[in-house]
Amino acid sequence: MKATMLYGPRDVRFEEVAEPKILKPTDAIIRLSATCVCGSDLWPFRGLNPITAPMAMGHEYCGIVEEVGSAVTTVRRGQFVVGSFCISDNTCPHCRFGFQSSCEQREFMSGAQAPLARVPLADGTLVATPELPADDLIPSFLAASDVLGTGWYAASAARVQPGSTVAVVGDGAVGLMGVLAAKQMGAGRIIAMSRHKTRQDLALEFGATDIVSERGEAGVSRIKDLTKGVGADSVLECVGTKQSMMQALQCARPGAMIGYVGVPHGVELDGAELFFSQRGLMGGPAPVRRFLPHLMDLVAERKINPGKVFDLTLPLGDVAEGYRAMDERRAIKTMLRV
Ligand SMILES: [Zn+2]
Repeated sequence: MKATMLYGPRDVRFEEVAEPKILKPTDAIIRLSATCVCGSDLWPFRGLNPITAPMAMGHEYCGIVEEVGSAVTTVRRGQFVVGSFCISDNTCPHCRFGFQSSCEQREFMSGAQAPLARVPLADGTLVATPELPADDLIPSFLAASDVLGTGWYAASAARVQPGSTVAVVGDGAVGLMGVLAAKQMGAGRIIAMSRHKTRQDLALEFGATDIVSERGEAGVSRIKDLTKGVGADSVLECVGTKQSMMQALQCARPGAMIGYVGVPHGVELDGAELFFSQRGLMGGPAPVRRFLPHLMDLVAERKINPGKVFDLTLPLGDVAEGYRAMDERRAIKTMLRV
């Protein structure tokens, strides 16, 4: 089969590789219905993470179970499944506390920008739908695998409450999903920080009530103005830069929680400043598995439409263009049809 490999900065190749096989009795092989390019794939694509050997790309996936190992009991051949980008057993203490992304057996999914993929720990990682979904729901199920689950976690970690005021830093796919999640959780006011018209429009569609286009100190003071000088009750940090984290901390009120899901690059916090600020931080790789059953129900019942975040759809063979379009900000998120 042909699959996506990253050889070095901006060197994405769609090339012949061996088909995945069951390696452990707890594995499953799935045939992908669709896959996509993640914002985090752009870090190695841009050369910001070192690449020592060709990498099998892709960690967001949904599809039909092709084969299962002898120990797998909860999914079977022919079922439609969605899994998290974090592989987990869903039985260890951390999983039981809802932190499957810190599973004692954690692995990170790879090789999903391909027609077939191997999913380790299939029982703990995959969730099946009762029946095969309609084709138009595939993008939304795919979004649940990472961006929706991550935006949802950001809102959950930031303890969004009914009626509360939420600020979302970052207008990438995850930030937009954070807006959607905050809306579902009943936030009264959702302030999305975005400078781009198409992303602002999508944020408003997903439930944002206010748009702040300023950044840095100007952005913080706009949010202070909008909240009568108090600051937001919950802040979702969905970028991962020093500037975005500072912005998130400064636009939160004392007592607020910040859910931070942007992978930090160059972020350093000052202990004394954090102490006197009285803001809480909870973040990290999202335990998407915790939220998957609920998110998949919301999608199946057509109560949410997170698939709208894909504004470019390409055949899998054009994956390199999918990376370029996101890198050049011509697309928010690229879906690849297999
Ligand atoms: Zn576990």
